[in-house]
Amino acid sequence: MAEWQKGDAAWCYINDDVTYEAGKIVELGEDDRSVTLKLASGKTLTTERANVLRANKDKQDGVEDNTFLRELNEATILHNVGVRYAKSEGGIYSTTGHILIAVNPFRQLKIYEEAQARALDAARALPIKRYLGKPIGSEPPHIYAIADRMYRLLLSSGDSQARSRRPSPRSPRARHRGGPLLLRCRDRSAPRAQAIIVSGPSGAGKTETCKLVLKHLAYVTKHLSEAGMSKSSMELGALLVMTNPLLEAFGNAETNLNRNSSRFGKFTQIHVSKKGAILGASIQTYLLEATRVVVHAERNCNYHIFYQARRSRWPAAPRAPEGSHYRATRRPSDANKYAYLRNATGKATARPGGRVGGGGDAAEFKDSLSVLQKIGVSEKLIASLWETLSGLLALGNITYGETVNGDACIQNTKALGTACKLLQCHDALLQQGLTSRTLKLKGGEMQAPLRRSRRARRWHVPLKQEEAESARDALAKAVYGKLFSWIVTQINTALIDKDTKLDDTGFLGILDIYGFENFERNSLEQLLINFTNEQLHQHFAIALFKTEQEIYKSEGIVWPGVEWEDNTACLEAISGKGGSIFNLLTEHSRLPKSSDASMTEGLLNEHRKSKHISPPKMGSKGGRGTGAGTKLTGKEAFVIAHFAGSVMYQTAGWLKKNTDSLHEDLSLCMSSSSAPILKDLFSVGSINAFTGGSKGGGKRAGFVADKYQKQLDDLMRTLRATSSHFVRCIKPNHEQAPNKFNKWLVLDQLRNSGMVDAVRLLSSGYSVRIPFTTLEESFKPLCPDKFKALSAPTFATCLLTALDLGRTDFLVGLTKAFFKSTKLAFVDALMDGTK
Ligand code: ADP
Ligand code: MG
Repeated sequence: MAEWQKGDAAWCYINDDVTYEAGKIVELGEDDRSVTLKLASGKTLTTERANVLRANKDKQDGVEDNTFLRELNEATILHNVGVRYAKSEGGIYSTTGHILIAVNPFRQLKIYEEAQARALDAARALPIKRYLGKPIGSEPPHIYAIADRMYRLLLSSGDSQARSRRPSPRSPRARHRGGPLLLRCRDRSAPRAQAIIVSGPSGAGKTETCKLVLKHLAYVTKHLSEAGMSKSSMELGALLVMTNPLLEAFGNAETNLNRNSSRFGKFTQIHVSKKGAILGASIQTYLLEATRVVVHAERNCNYHIFYQARRSRWPAAPRAPEGSHYRATRRPSDANKYAYLRNATGKATARPGGRVGGGGDAAEFKDSLSVLQKIGVSEKLIASLWETLSGLLALGNITYGETVNGDACIQNTKALGTACKLLQCHDALLQQGLTSRTLKLKGGEMQAPLRRSRRARRWHVPLKQEEAESARDALAKAVYGKLFSWIVTQINTALIDKDTKLDDTGFLGILDIYGFENFERNSLEQLLINFTNEQLHQHFAIALFKTEQEIYKSEGIVWPGVEWEDNTACLEAISGKGGSIFNLLTEHSRLPKSSDASMTEGLLNEHRKSKHISPPKMGSKGGRGTGAGTKLTGKEAFVIAHFAGSVMYQTAGWLKKNTDSLHEDLSLCMSSSSAPILKDLFSVGSINAFTGGSKGGGKRAGFVADKYQKQLDDLMRTLRATSSHFVRCIKPNHEQAPNKFNKWLVLDQLRNSGMVDAVRLLSSGYSVRIPFTTLEESFKPLCPDKFKALSAPTFATCLLTALDLGRTDFLVGLTKAFFKSTKLAFVDALMDGTK
């Protein structure tokens, strides 16, 4: 790097609140270590050179692509993103090559137009049109540009017919189906699958971004439908958008970070025909936070659906299905009456009225109901669904006392009676399941739960009060988890026609999954979430860095030498062979006498020399160290050094969580219920509550972490087989307020998302490329004969020089021409035939 000179523009790191402040170098320290700056605020400051980064000299008013910045470092990227955010609505977006950065505006913007419009008829007014068929870089950055590129790539990839068709770029329909640029720019072996991976912390705008991608798709397919495509494609696109509120009602909740926080991960696969029509779609969900059903923190709420149903007047009383008890709990007036709706302070969190932009709980309930009806769920099942939800609230109101023997007994039999009515199960069975547990005889045979013989009763072990409370909560979690999976299955059934063959079709994947978490107290759930992010980070790094490195090597071009942090060892420590965390967790979950403490000790012992797993530091109080908890030892917690920072995990309760066991008595009680939904959900081979998958398969399949790992493996395998597109969502402040840009918060996210490294790589490298064959096919026919005899690399060099490209703008490899990312628009226009 060039030496500092007096007068150089610089960014100086002040502290975590201010981050960088602009200034000019006024003095160079004689020790070669310090510099003195005159800051924009007027102050003069002497600091270490390590705190100072170069700034761009010219007026920085926010470039669209960060790789265009001449001085490239975290300070200039942060500044660029901030300037754009403050300047215009469209400025929430910027790009780094093909990666989109989206800063949450926390207000409705006009750049989507009719953002609130529900009916797709309003789509005609959308600016989606502006991005149709346009090369990236030719219009301001936007999620629609990425969505459009993804769709076009899907149509062009692997479709030789389409490649040879080469529709005229001037025909609007041709543009939808992928202009010549994409047909010819792609690798011939490109996968017939595209995925958009949206990441960021809670409240950063991931879910909204995914909805915009769907909106784009619905628009394009509607447009195609009008141009003669199948009607069902249009309907499927609309249905995909329409089912969202239902899924959000069951899977989203208000948290202190986001009023509509998704409490599950979601991968939507949309199967698209070669002509671009939607053939079907499916949604796979991950890790629903079932605990929220029974407990939630201050300024948090339970799942939206509980509040929606509370506000509802459904079903209209006279039409209530026969035997329905739903009326009994219709419109309970006060959320405070329900233990499961009260937060950790003992009071229900005040709700200003449903989701943001959702129109309030009552209106949202209507939406949920109408989606259920539209996707073909019968009135009988819908009634059963509401009854079951009400039954869960009643179940939560069951309180316990102690018998003279110190065993648990139910105090308020009225709540028990209501729960039994609504869940339509046998009073005595439920009461017994909630207060005792039947032990298995040798050989796995179960004692009949209600046998009264003295000998038989020996096998009923009474529960202690705390155990009974957790049995009650486990039942509520299991029922809700299964209801959620049932909802997903209903949606999927509506989105895929069982007669449609999808084996050979391409698909668009949209991944909306929870971001990295580091709370005051982190448990098994956080480990699974952070493990997911660790995997996705590796996928990002491989997609970007490793692939780049390999391409350079195979083309005989010198790698620009950008370092990247490889997180393979950390992933191995969590899920690899031998003494990884998941293996030890499984092992200890199997041992009848093991404990959370012995698992933790074993783990730390195994990783004594590991760089990635370490004991808690002396005096740690959990999480980020600000809590008032007790000091933690190597029996209670361990620390993982993740790519996004170190996280301390507290292991209390892990073995129990990992077995995810609902007392068999309670499962049997539910399967003997007369409620249509419950009977179905608790039958043998039913859907698993925690992961949404079905039971069975593999000898480790019973444990939560193993099941999740398998699910994630499948997801990663699918993603690896796609061309992945990345969107990094950034949360600019914790208050969810518009026009507030917290520099430290944004910088932290830019670093953690790998954006700083990506910008360095893409700007120093040659990230845009075209195969020689493509250049030859397009341009040789237009050249005089003497050019036709030139070798491919020489032809490419002559052509590009003749087109006025500078010597540093491109490189010629063995089979491809490489361009600087700043030449992306040039290359796109060149291949589009407009250059
Ligand atoms: P995440 O899924 O990352 O947790 P969401 O997508 O739910 O975050 O966004 C949180 C909130 O931020 C939304 O409810 C909405 O109010 C606001 N928001 C996010 N993206 C946008 C956007 N593009 N335009 C307007 N508001 C947005
Ligand atoms: Mg979300």
